[in-house]
Amino acid sequence: MTKHTKEILDLLDEHYGKEYVCYLNHENAWQLLIATMLSAQCTDARVNIVTKELFQKYKSPADFAKADVKELEQDIHSTGFYRNKARNIIACCKTLCEKYGGEVPREIDQLTALAGVGRKTANVIRGNIYHEPSVVVDTHVKRISNKLGLVSGDDPVKLEYDLMKVLPRDHWIRYNIQIIRLGREICKAPTPRCELCFLTGCCPAYQSGTEKKAGKTSRTVKAGKAETK
Ligand code: SF4
Repeated sequence: MTKHTKEILDLLDEHYGKEYVCYLNHENAWQLLIATMLSAQCTDARVNIVTKELFQKYKSPADFAKADVKELEQDIHSTGFYRNKARNIIACCKTLCEKYGGEVPREIDQLTALAGVGRKTANVIRGNIYHEPSVVVDTHVKRISNKLGLVSGDDPVKLEYDLMKVLPRDHWIRYNIQIIRLGREICKAPTPRCELCFLTGCCPAYQSGTEKKAGKTSRTVKAGKAETK
């Protein structure tokens, strides 16, 4: 691990802790799988509102597998892209029932073969449910990892592999958790709040002037003090 990487990871641990958290409410693997599918182009807060009632109505993958597609579309309407999401959830749950006895498989190839499940969703399941070290590349991780100079590029799969090379294995899961929080509270898109950031000293985007050097750099936001989305 380079000095630059260590400095960033130490500061993330110091400010956000090492605690494991999942921002999508769920009680088991299949609920997390569906919640993650619904979270595409949608906030976690909105997904949590929708799944609160959804998981009361559909109590198992079998319930989703036999759902009426039009009715499910209405149930998940507010998460956006509801037609695709409804079709994929039904197809995915049919496979879970027919091939895996209603359980969610563990291997990345098995997960990504499910309808509507890409590497991001698969890695969420592997990290959260099976505690397999995995790097989840979402919009925050993509944007901020580039700014911090840990990786460069846009392709999520390449970024995932590059981050696996750069980050120590024991940081893979929590890096995503910490960066999501940083992205929601401080390093926001499109305008990061660098004046509140504790990473200015090791952020090439800030130091090169790519990001506006606003306010006093010594003022930082401690865990729990900044607003959330
Ligand atoms: S210094 Fe600015 S650009 Fe760099 S991580 Fe912090 S908020 Fe983002």
